[in-house]
Amino acid sequence: MAKIGINIATGSLQQEEMIVGIDLGTTNSLVAIIHPESKKPVALKEHNSSSLVPSIIHFGEHGDVTVGDEARKFLVNDPANTIFSAKRLMGKSYDDIRNNASFFTYKVIDDNTDSLVKIQVGDKFYSPIELSAFILRELKSRAEHILKTPVSKAVITVPAYFNDAQRQATRDAGKLAGLDVLRIINEPTAASLAYGLGVKGDEEKVIAVYDLGGGTFDISILRISNGIFEVLSTNGDTYLGGDDFDREIVQNWMKEHDISSEQLNSNKELMQQLRLKAEEAKKHLGKQDVYISNVDDYQLQITAAEFEKLIQPLVKKTLVACENALKDAGFSVAGIQEIVMVGGSTRVNLVKQEVSRFFGKPVHAELDPDEVVALGAAVQADILAGNNKDFLLLDITPLSLGVETMGGLMDVLIPRNSKIPTRVARQYTTQKDGQSGIKIAVYQGERDLVKDNRKLASFDLTGIPAMPAGLPKVELSFMINADGILVVKAKELRSGVEQVIQVKPQYGLTDEEVETMLMDSILHAKEDIATRALVEAQTEARQLIDSTATFVEKNKIHLTADEMTNTADAIEKLSALVESGTKDQIQAQIELLNELSKPYAERLMDLAIQRAISGKNITDNF
Ligand code: ADP
Ligand code: MG
Repeated sequence: MAKIGINIATGSLQQEEMIVGIDLGTTNSLVAIIHPESKKPVALKEHNSSSLVPSIIHFGEHGDVTVGDEARKFLVNDPANTIFSAKRLMGKSYDDIRNNASFFTYKVIDDNTDSLVKIQVGDKFYSPIELSAFILRELKSRAEHILKTPVSKAVITVPAYFNDAQRQATRDAGKLAGLDVLRIINEPTAASLAYGLGVKGDEEKVIAVYDLGGGTFDISILRISNGIFEVLSTNGDTYLGGDDFDREIVQNWMKEHDISSEQLNSNKELMQQLRLKAEEAKKHLGKQDVYISNVDDYQLQITAAEFEKLIQPLVKKTLVACENALKDAGFSVAGIQEIVMVGGSTRVNLVKQEVSRFFGKPVHAELDPDEVVALGAAVQADILAGNNKDFLLLDITPLSLGVETMGGLMDVLIPRNSKIPTRVARQYTTQKDGQSGIKIAVYQGERDLVKDNRKLASFDLTGIPAMPAGLPKVELSFMINADGILVVKAKELRSGVEQVIQVKPQYGLTDEEVETMLMDSILHAKEDIATRALVEAQTEARQLIDSTATFVEKNKIHLTADEMTNTADAIEKLSALVESGTKDQIQAQIELLNELSKPYAERLMDLAIQRAISGKNITDNF
């Protein structure tokens, strides 16, 4: 993966930079790369140590910050300054986490409930983005130390259910840590990639990714087709994981030794020791039938059978979530072709057995479950580096897709970040009587005016039979198929005339271009809103001018001379304002013209009704 190239300008040799894959986890985080020789994904670790970096940050008295195993030691002695589970706070307001506030042993600020949360450490305040950046910075420097080369580009994973704000927060954390985040991908997608699922182009499969970590449980049902990962459903429990297994063991020992909760609460040292022993026991019982140890004078013992009995209800809970996820995705277990196990807690035998029994087939557990997400992120990084050309990974649309409507406005049919494949249809109509064609121009981008977006294609729907304005029903449908190709179809529903074109919306845009376009839309948001309002007023004015002129022309004989000249004046003024007036001026003039035409419009309506009552049809006259 580390390529050597020659810089044509300087003639010097350059090493092309490696893109790393990062699993930024709630409990543990790690970095993986594609090994330059074996071409296989590997997790980075220093000899003999673990690849996992606990996602824990400790702020020392003198401004020193430690991350990982070092920081973990402070969980007991210095809980107020030791931050864990920062990922749970990403993109959240205090209101979002209010019900779980007691979970956090450090200070989460609760004064301004609507805005994003901050954490207070001493007299300093940190956002979850800054906290995650500390972890990412540590991962970056570890990777650089191990690889002995600078690392500045990464793919970072997030849970499939993360919303836009949470994804953006993760991206920002990366930036803050000095990383260029080339892509954010879903954890279950990464796990499937690590197993090579979806790598073959023509593969079509529905798979389940079961992820039981330290504190969270996620089940995702994915459809893979033609290298596209579509999240069909997600379910889970954001407060269920391996930590709860440990807690069960601790509580079991407390019962056995008559230790009360008060006793434990007042002896944090003992509490932490028991917790660590419980975790040790849990891991030990994966290979042995019994665990024996001691803390102080307490003799601690637990058998594999006892452990399984303790956690059985928790495992059952995860299976209920699996059932719900299947239901939401519209599948039964028989429809699931592969099951991928993710997260350290899936090392527990009972978990593997029960999940396998639930789905009625063997599960994928060949790779290290706590590394598998990072390994998949590395596979994705390799694809982005261009080393795996025949494989394009798309699971969401990076930018909005829409059409141009009256006045050059962008009408979005498929918003950015929509899952693909997808289909959206909307109805439009004609502006003029007898209009026989409609021009359809397809754009990509986030700005309100199409001229600021990127034009992808345009075509004419012709042959619409003559009808009054507003009567034709033109259905426009946007369909992004599994190949990432946009198919735009326009069909006039009354006559059946239709026109279809194909566009490749994603191609030709780099991640940087996408980002620039997004930045632009944020920068210009205010100005865009104003422009949109003006264009809408202009459009309304033009339509009113048209319809009033037509009406006056048809009904001349019923109007007074004054009404005729005043209306003509008002129309002329409005026409001038459409060209050069402000939104408010145009709207004022629209109102004036409406006021002016109201008396005679009403008078003519009365007349029409009288005629209708005496046997004539209303529509004969108008
Ligand atoms: P996260 O995705 O939440 O960051 P991980 O996937 O790293 O978390 O999982 C961490 C959890 O896995 C911890 O609760 C840890 O105790 C548990 N775990 C790690 N190894 C084992 C093992 N051999 N047996 C049982 N549980 C394990
Ligand atoms: Mg995880």
